[in-house]
Amino acid sequence: MSVWDQLVGQQDATAVLRDAARAARGVADGDPTAQGMTHAWLITGPPGSGRSVAARAFAAALACTDPEEVGCGHCHGCTTTLGGTHADLRVIATERVSFKIEEMRPIVSDAQQAPSQGRWRVMLMEDADRMVERTSNVLLKAIEEPPPRTVWLLCAPSAQDLIPTIRSRCRAVSLRVPPAQDVADLLVRRDGIDPRVALMAARAAQSHIGVARRLATDPGARERRRSILTVPARIRGVGDAVLAAAELVELAQAEGRAATEERDAAERVELLRTLGAEGETRLPPAVRAQVRRLEDNQKSRATRAQRDVLDRAMVDLLSLYRDVLIVQLAADVPLVNVDLEPEIRSLAADGDAEQTLQRMDAVATARTRLAANVAPLLAVEAMMVALRPQAGAHL
Ligand SMILES: [Zn+2]
Repeated sequence: MSVWDQLVGQQDATAVLRDAARAARGVADGDPTAQGMTHAWLITGPPGSGRSVAARAFAAALACTDPEEVGCGHCHGCTTTLGGTHADLRVIATERVSFKIEEMRPIVSDAQQAPSQGRWRVMLMEDADRMVERTSNVLLKAIEEPPPRTVWLLCAPSAQDLIPTIRSRCRAVSLRVPPAQDVADLLVRRDGIDPRVALMAARAAQSHIGVARRLATDPGARERRRSILTVPARIRGVGDAVLAAAELVELAQAEGRAATEERDAAERVELLRTLGAEGETRLPPAVRAQVRRLEDNQKSRATRAQRDVLDRAMVDLLSLYRDVLIVQLAADVPLVNVDLEPEIRSLAADGDAEQTLQRMDAVATARTRLAANVAPLLAVEAMMVALRPQAGAHL
């Protein structure tokens, strides 16, 4: 299996990256006719389309040592890159809401080094959209004057998420939403999931590969999704809306905590052990400062986890109203939420397409506000209130 087989439903992007990796090999080996390699790439695509999978496959192809293929998938260069341990690969990711400028500086100086093992040093930055302008400018300097053997691979949801000066220096590769059937086939092939379950999960996840996998394998995740999607049918008035908002935010907090709690405790134990303060009841001031820094980082990680859960809930709600709209317009398009068809039909009968569009707007606004760090409860409450049936709408 070559490294390219992991890119689901992305034939166009795969062709571009594969050609570039071949050209890159020529450039590094001194072939004067080799063309088509660029020092900075911007890989964009909707969440779950496989941005970081594509970036890793490309990085592996650049490190591949197979004499024939680029990205053979089994040589040392390919396997260590895919496993994240190749000496010339630096993966830059953050679990915080945004990268810190202090994190960026050592990375930029790292990028100045020549590769130690392979042909290229690869700086793979996930979440390149999580940068404030000051941090972006540090990165920009690095991209403007790249050493001859360094490649930057930036991943972001869309090109507009980066400042124009960075965007204009990158070659763009955009991934599409893979067809649900392709995602289902992957789940069947890779995870041994029943084809019927796989297709339903792929549709419900709107082809987000990671979410589809979780829905197909975790009944708890299916249950949580269902309880979010049945909220609109339960809201009758402002009181219900406020309660539903509180419930959703709590659910997101609980999921965010569950995702991080175990790791937080382990990190604390590890830090105290490293500092030789294990089992002490009163921590010396120097240790206390370090523990506080760790706790701050953990807190921002939990915040991000909570925000990701809420954002996912919004995406699910949008898919529900999309289905409602499809029924209202009698469009000949398959529903995303096949399992909720009765609820969708009753919501559709309750109002008209214009109202459905207004509700979709309300969900989209809540997403924007959450992304802009508005207090979650405020943003979600305003949204829920807008989702309730409008008195007199039919008059
Ligand atoms: Zn290889």
